[in-house]
Amino acid sequence: MNLDFQCTKCKIKLNDLFLCPNCSKQYNNSDGFFDFTDNRLSFTYTQERKFSDFLSDINSHGYTKSLETFLKENPRFEHKFMKKEGDIAFGLNHRNHSRCLIINSDLGNIPENLSDIFDEVYSLELDKNRILIQKFRFEEHGIKNTVLFRAHVDSLPFSNNHFDLVVLNGIQISEKSDVSTRTQIINYFKEIKRVLTLNGCLCVGADNKSGIKIPGNEADYYTDNKIYSDNFKNYNSFFTHLGFNVKSCWALPSYNKPHYLGNIEDGVSLKWLFTNFDKFFATNMKIRSLAMFFKLFNKSTCKLIMKFIGPSFIFYCYSKETPQGFEDFIKEKTGFDHYIQASRNNKVMHILLDESGDPKKILSCKRAKYDFTEKIMPIIRKFPKMKDADEKILSEDWFGNDHLDRLNINHVKLALDWLTNFQNNTSSGSLDLHDIEAEVENLKSELDRIEEIHNLPYHKCLDEYKQHVSAIKFKKTAVHGDFQVRNILVNQDNLSVNVIDWSAFMEKGNPLIDFLALAGSMIFQGSDSVEECRSNLRGTGKAVPALKLIKKTMNEYFQADLDFIILLRFRVLKILLRNFKTKRTSTDYFTYVELFRMLSEIN
Ligand SMILES: [Zn+2]
Repeated sequence: MNLDFQCTKCKIKLNDLFLCPNCSKQYNNSDGFFDFTDNRLSFTYTQERKFSDFLSDINSHGYTKSLETFLKENPRFEHKFMKKEGDIAFGLNHRNHSRCLIINSDLGNIPENLSDIFDEVYSLELDKNRILIQKFRFEEHGIKNTVLFRAHVDSLPFSNNHFDLVVLNGIQISEKSDVSTRTQIINYFKEIKRVLTLNGCLCVGADNKSGIKIPGNEADYYTDNKIYSDNFKNYNSFFTHLGFNVKSCWALPSYNKPHYLGNIEDGVSLKWLFTNFDKFFATNMKIRSLAMFFKLFNKSTCKLIMKFIGPSFIFYCYSKETPQGFEDFIKEKTGFDHYIQASRNNKVMHILLDESGDPKKILSCKRAKYDFTEKIMPIIRKFPKMKDADEKILSEDWFGNDHLDRLNINHVKLALDWLTNFQNNTSSGSLDLHDIEAEVENLKSELDRIEEIHNLPYHKCLDEYKQHVSAIKFKKTAVHGDFQVRNILVNQDNLSVNVIDWSAFMEKGNPLIDFLALAGSMIFQGSDSVEECRSNLRGTGKAVPALKLIKKTMNEYFQADLDFIILLRFRVLKILLRNFKTKRTSTDYFTYVELFRMLSEIN
């Protein structure tokens, strides 16, 4: 990367040693980032202690191991290390992908995300600890096109017209400053506009002053400066004053967690969102009762309400006319004018709605650079080709967003019917002793690497499983590989089932796997406490009727008297291993360790 900074005082380009040829000030430091701050303000943060402990742990134990420990103690920070939370600028996949700047980059979600799209990513953060955490994170993830630096936003170390995109992750202002807030804000944006190319875009994530708070999204506030918040009208007047054309979007639960995002002037998609609000965000009583009212609003009321109580906004500001972007591309290719962006772990989904507000299609888009010559590939699943094609954009008919409800015994029955049918249609050859042994031995040796479970009796449990299963005759069948509640959609109208996420599909394998995945996800779902799992296992929890049905179906289907606990231990160990490999830092992983401990104590 050819770094291109200028001296914040002399406004001239730094030399190759990052020294100002005029005032001789040195801007790079031994910590591996650039520092353009003076001692005007010393920022301290509420989490400073936690972060500095984390950093010293990284120095002695490495990034991954330390992150694991850090998140175990501070699970509420988990989202700050997830790429999907940085989708604020996904829709800004324009033709210019050369340079971008992220202001207030926090722990690096947005820079990491944009590093796939832009050639050069500049990440500005004032807190030194956060910069250093980002440094280790990017090193660990092999990201080489990101530059970390510290600077004051009202004096950016760049020449004019430098960036194709500037992302502002919250408007941070100083509480100690002697200039008025309005002046601070205007100066702040003027400076940002200076470094933006004429065709560039400024993307601003901002809090709504009168917005409701969606639980689970408590911000961590800075002690010396604060995140500025205002109302929709004032934000727009700032941007218009600065000569920007603005496209305003809503983001839920917030701009730094944009799980759902859409155009605030699109009444059609907003009406659909409000009608289904309880399905997305019914996290507490207050939201549940609001959601009841939301269903009653018409399109224009929805727009007003979102502007008034939406938790936060994302403004996409352009000096010139809005260039063709991802949104136009999708609209042109699909013919749908209304959509909502929904972020998932591995993909960015787009729900497409027709004029009457009914969702018709769902696109899944890779987080990647687009040049708008991409094809939108329809998903056609036909055995044995069940995995998704490798195209960047896949399109599927909308199947509703109602996941299987484990309290609804009819849903459970539908899923079991689907599974037995799937297995009957794909069965071949028998699962012999050799297959079972190989699976168990393989699992044992992989689990041996996990420290947390060393003192748990998983060898004994796996031997019991082998013995139990060897005595029964099974046929090999196709295996979905992740047949859990979250991947089973139920259409309420015609009571049909659609199974999604085929990334772990196997053409031939152990038929127990999918049954056990279903049973396992009945016992434990994301929002459940460990206590809840325990009661499901003891036979008093709310998933017990569903579990009984699965057990009965399995015994009939396999014509055997299966020991559920022995089988579940096997299942839990398999997920535990998978979670250890892919998301060992997540709270899910620790719950499975706990779940196995519990299962191993049942006789
Ligand atoms: Zn200078």
